[in-house]
Amino acid sequence: MPRQLIAGNWKMNGLSMAATRLAGAIRAAVTAAPPPCDLLICPPFTLVGRLAHVMLGSGVAVGAQDCHAKPAGAHTGDVSAAMLKDAGATAVILGHSERRAGHGETDGQVRAKAEAALAAGLAPIVCVGETLAEREAGRQEEVVAAQLAGSLPDGFAAAGVVAYEPVWAIGTGITPTEADIAAMHAMIRRLLGERFGAPGGRVAILYGGSVKPSNAAGILALPEVGGALVGGASLVAEDFLAIAAAAQP
Ligand code: PEP
Repeated sequence: MPRQLIAGNWKMNGLSMAATRLAGAIRAAVTAAPPPCDLLICPPFTLVGRLAHVMLGSGVAVGAQDCHAKPAGAHTGDVSAAMLKDAGATAVILGHSERRAGHGETDGQVRAKAEAALAAGLAPIVCVGETLAEREAGRQEEVVAAQLAGSLPDGFAAAGVVAYEPVWAIGTGITPTEADIAAMHAMIRRLLGERFGAPGGRVAILYGGSVKPSNAAGILALPEVGGALVGGASLVAEDFLAIAAAAQP
């Protein structure tokens, strides 16, 4: 199996001086003691180029948090996948629940962005996950299955990553039980296999939602958990590194 991936989603946080300090601390730590996993940090657009430079040769990859579906053109304020690649990114988070809720992103739009990311040579990290109301209604598997069917383009399994992020666990300090995480990851793995065949069996499935040093080892040891997408804890070098250290070797 490939190494687990610990990815940091910095969201809309980071001015150049503090961000460079945070990235530098991560770089120094992984240089001194390489973690048993792959590492990715996803800062805001403004920092992608700078941090790709800071991380050059460190083994820590840099990604972004969104891209436009078109390679170029009259799309004021948008950034294309090719631009991210040009700035040094290797991956892009797509369809995060904060974008689905805050920007009305649909599965179809996420799918088009994922296609653009693949075409540009970026790994799309496509986020799926149910709301609390959907889980309380027992609809979590139906919701996630529909998001996967609508958001993943053909060819996704070549380089794509899925992140299961229950919306109610993001930034709340609350996580599903380990049994619930394992059940959802098993369903996602089954659906990836049905859709993509053998390559679907190799797509990493990250868990995201209030991952922290205290719960990382338990979550990362679950079957079909291929790593973690980490929000708040990725902004503190020691916490991000402690989560990385808890990855399965
Ligand atoms: C996220 O936003 O992707 C996330 C997982 O956030 P947090 O770790 O803060 O819950």
